[in-house]
Amino acid sequence: MLNIRKERTKEPKMKPDYSNLGFGRYFTDHMFLMNYNKDLGWYDPRIVPYAPLSLDPSCMVFHYAQEMFEGLKAYYTPDGKIQLFRPDKNAERMQNTNERLCIPQISKEDFIQAISETVMFDKDWIPKEIGTSLYIRPFIIATDPQLGVHPSKTYIFCIILSPVAAYYAEGINPVKIFIERDYVRAVKGGTGFAKVGGNYASSLKGQEKAEKYGYSQVLWLDGIERKYIDEVGAMNVFFVIGDEVVTPSLADGSILPGVTRASCIELLRSKGYKVTERKLSVEELYAAYDRGELKEAFGTGTAAVISPIGSLDDENKKAVINDGKIGPISQMLYDTLTGIQWGVIPDPFGWTRVIG
Ligand SMILES: *Cc1c(COP(=O)(O)O)cnc(C)c1O
Repeated sequence: MLNIRKERTKEPKMKPDYSNLGFGRYFTDHMFLMNYNKDLGWYDPRIVPYAPLSLDPSCMVFHYAQEMFEGLKAYYTPDGKIQLFRPDKNAERMQNTNERLCIPQISKEDFIQAISETVMFDKDWIPKEIGTSLYIRPFIIATDPQLGVHPSKTYIFCIILSPVAAYYAEGINPVKIFIERDYVRAVKGGTGFAKVGGNYASSLKGQEKAEKYGYSQVLWLDGIERKYIDEVGAMNVFFVIGDEVVTPSLADGSILPGVTRASCIELLRSKGYKVTERKLSVEELYAAYDRGELKEAFGTGTAAVISPIGSLDDENKKAVINDGKIGPISQMLYDTLTGIQWGVIPDPFGWTRVIG
């Protein structure tokens, strides 16, 4: 149990226009902070007014990217409750990321308590309109002020909160995806399974290239053979091939184990769909497309939940999926997951955690 000190701001901010929130543009009045050093472990958990952090320019995070983050949301239900979606899964992933990045562990209970108390402290910032939510961004940075390369001995754990819009204000529009053959985002033995800023820095170039050609996201291939599908943009990816739902297996450690991914697999299996986690090559996918068996493709992640793929293009091949429209399985997953998250349909899986 953390004993969290709380200091309320004397200058509450103006709330933004809740009909035009976008994603991650506005932040609430407060933030959570906790420090780490070798003597005290994690110490001084506190909720304080949202403000810039003052850091020595030599801090390790700026030079060697010893940093991790998480992402989840809090939702207002129609009966006025505030709930989180599977925070235990984020806590588990936080520990796996910390382990990989040599960051000292935080207990799952403390992590969820820090999130819950910070959300409740700023609960008047949670938007109530259907489809909106409060995005929660916990992160840890290495703060040793020195340039030698080794794991830092001091850290800051911070949580910031951002009210975000319904992702699909004008309905779900399938996106155009470009298959990236040159740049890769992760390799076996690297940090693909960990939620770290460094993975994003190395993905920017491919993303920029895709946008230049008029695409909205990149399909990432495995870093060794450039044959097998890893992820789409910063989302996990699923394909409906015949009567099989396929998603790349986590076995090689180059794919981020998404909470939305896990939830889609469990939900589909509970409804009797055949779901397979395995290697899937671009060649196999295009062959299925040529036989008319590639029925749906979609990305999954906390921000958009389900993001249908309308076309999947290579330099010399174009595949238009389901006429560029959202398919029935994608729609069912979107409706069911968001219904459970917003508390408008029952949650038979026990995935939601009411915090207020
Ligand atoms: C966060 C993330 C995802 C999606 O994970 P969720 O827990 O479903 O939000 C997928 N891929 C990458 C690279 C990510 O960082």
